[in-house]
Amino acid sequence: MKAILKALPKVELHRHLEGSLPVPLTLEWSKKYRLPLPEKKPHEGIQVKTPMPLPQVLERLFYQQRCFQDKESVETLTYEVLKDIAQDNIKLIELRFSPGFMAEPRKLSFDTLMEATLSARESAQKDFGIEVGFILISSRDLGVEICEETIDLALRWKKEIVGIDLAGDETNFHPELFEKPFQRAHKAGLFITTHSGEVSHPSHITTSIQKLKASRIGHGVQAIQDLTVIQYLVNHKIPLELCPTSNFITKAIPHIKEHPLKKFMELGVEVTINSDDPTLFGTTLTQEYEICMKELGLSLDEIKKTILTSFYHSFVSKEQKNRAWKNHFKYLGN
Ligand SMILES: [Zn+2]
Repeated sequence: MKAILKALPKVELHRHLEGSLPVPLTLEWSKKYRLPLPEKKPHEGIQVKTPMPLPQVLERLFYQQRCFQDKESVETLTYEVLKDIAQDNIKLIELRFSPGFMAEPRKLSFDTLMEATLSARESAQKDFGIEVGFILISSRDLGVEICEETIDLALRWKKEIVGIDLAGDETNFHPELFEKPFQRAHKAGLFITTHSGEVSHPSHITTSIQKLKASRIGHGVQAIQDLTVIQYLVNHKIPLELCPTSNFITKAIPHIKEHPLKKFMELGVEVTINSDDPTLFGTTLTQEYEICMKELGLSLDEIKKTILTSFYHSFVSKEQKNRAWKNHFKYLGN
């Protein structure tokens, strides 16, 4: 089955650039920049394979995040990540990154970051025949001011990106705090997705849709606790970007077998399958599909349905969608 799943043309909507940096490259570039690595077994120490609270998981992500130090590393590593993505037969990818965090170590300008990622995208699209869309992340923990700056950047580069995201600690930084900048982005025509209801209260999901104008929800697993939230998602056709392994590792769910993905499908919620930070968690999108079949009881047809749901809800341009449809997804449902 693994070979069949690997061969499927895939769409991925929720994947972080930094958490997709292959482990060997993380080690190589950490050494190059003389960045500290875990003393014992660095190869394993930079990954998270057993469940731990979300803040600790984010601390571990730091090893990968720091490798994006300057224009050269951002360009080279973004290209390598896209190469890795193409090798898993992902034909349409929305890759997200946080300019705030990436610019931090060496005070890189946001515009330099954009130039480097866009140049990597151009080469990767040409070399691997994939369609790439970038989503800029505003990190809640960095505060409203940095959020405003990220939205300014997103608007400046509006033609080159496909949307914006809000991530980080939702428990201490409620969605309402970011209403003003996100409304501004929405009015300017940017698509919005937010990490919401991952480990925090399900009501944040509806608030994010109503006040932040999110048209997709990252994770949203906690919606399973509240039928009114589920009904809201169904009525408004808002899809969830679910990431089974990530949800297990961050303790959003107690056990992988208890992941509510299939239950959401049965209740009429539109679901998509994603890998989130695959190299941090030691997974791939193919492996996530395999988990959904083996552990959650999805059929191959249901996997294909989630791919088409992802395709339908993708924020990429009509032109990119048409090309991907004609070249890869036209026959998927047959
Ligand atoms: Zn995420």
